[in-house]
Amino acid sequence: MSAPLDILPIPGGPLETNAYLVIDPPSRSGILVDAPPETSDAIVARVRDAGVTVDRIVLTHTHWDHIIDTAALREALGARILAHSDADAHLATPGSVGMALPYSVAPIVPDGHLADGDTVSLGDHAFSVLHLPGHDPSHIALLSVDDRVLLGGDVLFPGGHGRTDLPGADQATMVQSLARLLPLPDDTTVYPGHGQATTIGAERDWMTRMTDPA
Ligand SMILES: [Zn+2]
Repeated sequence: MSAPLDILPIPGGPLETNAYLVIDPPSRSGILVDAPPETSDAIVARVRDAGVTVDRIVLTHTHWDHIIDTAALREALGARILAHSDADAHLATPGSVGMALPYSVAPIVPDGHLADGDTVSLGDHAFSVLHLPGHDPSHIALLSVDDRVLLGGDVLFPGGHGRTDLPGADQATMVQSLARLLPLPDDTTVYPGHGQATTIGAERDWMTRMTDPA
């Protein structure tokens, strides 16, 4: 059994969007999940304090509150940006859907793509990539069943799922994505894109009702 991962939430911006710094202490390496507004200085300081190398930034999806500090963090960390290929068009012309932003969002060109079934390794740990559209067509999550960790972005929150009333979102597709998470062990911790962590077990009742066709 590998040593446990350190998973540090770093929230930022008006929607309190969570970045997650995921560190494997033995290998002194880490990955960053998402790059919310006004988080880059805090993230760089945490990386420096931890004495680790963060060589990849995984973007769960293309909404502005998850990506605004991507360019600054790529530069500061020397990290590669990874996203689903369906994210490319929106990342090239990022902006808000129906909302004036207090930020300018620089175009982002990913350095590599992640598809459903791909593996993101970190030391002795391995995350599988799940493509979970419904909130955003390009949405991905990172799952390690061995570690009982799901870095779920805006798919699953305590008591509910990500919004499906946005352009590109779709409720039926969201239900299919939630159904893929139901078989996970109850003690899988879910680290969401906003708010506090939860577990699959804590959310299982409503997820089961929503995904049950009967
Ligand atoms: Zn979102």
